[in-house]
Amino acid sequence: CLQPSSSCAATTTRTEPPDDGERVFDLSRGDPTMYEAYWKKVGDEATVVIPGSQSMSYFSDVTNICWFLEPELGSEVRRLHKVVGNAVTEGRHIVVGTGSSQLFLAALYALSPQDAHVPISVVAQVPYYSVYPILTDLLKPGLFKWAGDAQIFNKERTYIELVTSPNNPDGYTRGPVVNGSEGILVHDLAYYWPQYTPISSPADHDLMLFTLSKSTGHGGTRIGWALVKDQEVARRMIKFIELTTIGVSKDAQLRAAKILRVISDSSERTASSEQDESFFEFSHHLLAKRWKLLREAVEHSEIFSLPVFLPAFCTFRNRVSEPQPGFAWLKCEGDIEDCESFLRGNKGIILDSRREALFEQGSDPKYDKGSPASARAGWQRVSLKIFSVEKDILVHL
Ligand code: PMP
Repeated sequence: CLQPSSSCAATTTRTEPPDDGERVFDLSRGDPTMYEAYWKKVGDEATVVIPGSQSMSYFSDVTNICWFLEPELGSEVRRLHKVVGNAVTEGRHIVVGTGSSQLFLAALYALSPQDAHVPISVVAQVPYYSVYPILTDLLKPGLFKWAGDAQIFNKERTYIELVTSPNNPDGYTRGPVVNGSEGILVHDLAYYWPQYTPISSPADHDLMLFTLSKSTGHGGTRIGWALVKDQEVARRMIKFIELTTIGVSKDAQLRAAKILRVISDSSERTASSEQDESFFEFSHHLLAKRWKLLREAVEHSEIFSLPVFLPAFCTFRNRVSEPQPGFAWLKCEGDIEDCESFLRGNKGIILDSRREALFEQGSDPKYDKGSPASARAGWQRVSLKIFSVEKDILVHL
């Protein structure tokens, strides 16, 4: 059974009053507050003061196609990608958004044919980020519609394929899977940062999405950015953001610019002197510790297992390192009919309630993933958020 260690009691996230006096572990959220300790250590270096008279206008830079992008943020985004080596920014427009969630919708809007009689299909390989189908079908605009698993998509028409790499929820590196010539790709690279995965080369795709929430941990600042090759696509994404929110909070952008600057500075300092720990070293160590803890706990169990990732050379860390995703794609074998209920009932672990894509069973990807009661193939997988595995919690699965 799951026994929280005595030392974890103070740090456990508790979301609901437990029915029977047992403690509840909420592993359902991808809230990256675990990086807080780094930002506390940094102190005032990352503080932003905005006088009341500053940032009042809607406009940031009317000479830029993305007129609401703060120039400081634009240059810090380009600088950080250069320092980390995880994306090409030359020849790209930067479009800032209220989180990458807004940019996701902006991208679908921009890439959908405006005069088509039928909405364009949007697909992603299972298991996919559970928000994709919800967001895609949210407004039912007739421009685009969710069409499910990319692996079984019949590709006679133009479609949009979402490629998330490293993937949420299983952490694997991915490329497109639909074998069609008319696909438009959107690369969600929220986790293509050195704390999660070895950086192999700068990503060089037509449309790439990044977010502050997963790179630095500042989910609440709600800043994401897209690197967009095609000017017309960028223009339409900008139009979407103009129509929905008339731009993006300047205050948030200025804070984001400062945070990114601190990270780039710390990486450059560490590279030259190795005196202090850079943000990416700190976050890499933290994730490594959590993965070690979880792997040890899982090893003791007879029914659970975790994916094994191959180490690879990371050009940023200049050494071989192992992928360590923000999620653990936990495999449950044996007689458990519903792994999610089992973990909740027997072990006090709460998982993501948007289960459609966070839940996988059997070996047939087409098989009814939302209906655990009908499990028949002997195994299921569920997603645990490493972000929420508090560092002192010993999870004896
Ligand atoms: N893409 C992926 C793959 C994610 O996991 C998340 C956050 N869970 C997002 C996008 C959304 O990021 P943001 O906080 O910037 O909206």
